[in-house]
Amino acid sequence: MVIIINYLYVGIDDTDSNEGMCTSYLASYIINKLKENDIKIVNYPRLIRLNPFAQFKTRGNGAISFKILNDNKTSLAKKIILEETKNFAMLDSENTNPGVVFYNGQITNELVDYSIRAINSIITIEEAEKFANRICAEIHKFKNGRGIIGALAAIAFPLKDFTYELLTYRVKNNYGKKRKINKGSVLKMDQETYPDTFENYDMSEDYIAIEPKTPCPVLYGIRSNTIDALKKAEKIVKVDEDIYSACIFKTNQHTDAHIQEVNNIADLNQFSCYKFKGTVRKRPTIIEGGHVFFHLFDKTGEIECGAYEPTKDFRKIILKLHPGDIIEVYGGIGKHNTFNIEKFKVIKLNKIKYINPKCECGRTLSSAGKNKGFKCKKCGFKIKSGKKIAIDFKRDLEENKLYETPISARRHLAKPICRMDI
Ligand code: ATP
Repeated sequence: MVIIINYLYVGIDDTDSNEGMCTSYLASYIINKLKENDIKIVNYPRLIRLNPFAQFKTRGNGAISFKILNDNKTSLAKKIILEETKNFAMLDSENTNPGVVFYNGQITNELVDYSIRAINSIITIEEAEKFANRICAEIHKFKNGRGIIGALAAIAFPLKDFTYELLTYRVKNNYGKKRKINKGSVLKMDQETYPDTFENYDMSEDYIAIEPKTPCPVLYGIRSNTIDALKKAEKIVKVDEDIYSACIFKTNQHTDAHIQEVNNIADLNQFSCYKFKGTVRKRPTIIEGGHVFFHLFDKTGEIECGAYEPTKDFRKIILKLHPGDIIEVYGGIGKHNTFNIEKFKVIKLNKIKYINPKCECGRTLSSAGKNKGFKCKKCGFKIKSGKKIAIDFKRDLEENKLYETPISARRHLAKPICRMDI
């Protein structure tokens, strides 16, 4: 006999703003309040990152979901969830439009497809509402209710690959104040738990990555492949302020869940993320502001690729690319239709360079104009016809090797190289 357990799935999104709050904090507060009322959530709550190019995101486009047993306490649970959402959400902020979704059916394929669309493309509020109504999900919209888009997706997003994040929260009096995290303890934690934990500290930028840079309630967040490593890490990290509460979330962070593999450049769309192979057209160039650009092409098309200033030393690696190199890039296409590179793998390096021939006097000849041969600017010697000479040259990049942006500039969803074999 198959026993089907009836769950109530809860999705919450869009409760925070740049001025404060964090949907994960609201969720952990709600979970504690449910516990006080003898309502326990099943497994870990989930923090699901959706399309990095969603226009109205505050930071990392995260939405939350969790599930409880659908029993005689369901209406009390719904009451608590809606009340606390109303109490905590930054409703005065123009771009905060919370959405709460309750769903007690099965996680069907079409629900999963919807959640994948929410990471790969842009969904409208109307589309999400229509879909929720059709599958009999109960939606609650605050203001324009945009949050239902992400709330619904967070319920169903499949976590084939997943990570965990331990989030600790500050006492209210400390919101907005400088965080007092002991840097030495973060370094120690990194040394003792990496690579089971990752993205803790960026050596190259002297940047404590577990510490948010916004006035939100989060004190720090540690990301890991395992719960055990998180527990060990939590004991090592020292802070000089009170911790109000802590919560572990199961997440799609650092899994490349946003990356779709395509074979043709012509199939790339704006506001989506991909991995694809292409050939470097010309040497990358650096423009004012420090952004680096170059073009990749294949038999179907060509696209501009960029490594922006915040990617720091990663740009120096990009600048080593030469025309004819074949690389596989991971990243996404944003507002300006440029492919924003998160990491790349060198498939094949062009190790041949064409140079002008040398003159008898020892100087390198210059071009005498298109199809006009070469001339020496020193002694006047001329060759009417002649070709450039192919030479082997040493490359400072390795074939089959992945290169990634520094931790300080990495997307929540980007899979770090230390997780690539997982
Ligand atoms: P966090 O601070 O937790 O990292 P966030 O604050 O950046 O996340 P939200 O404030 O939750 O992001 O705002 C994101 C908004 O975008 C939400 O209203 C969500 O429903 C919506 N959204 C999410 N995915 C999509 C999508 N694919 N298309 C359109 N809107 C989306």
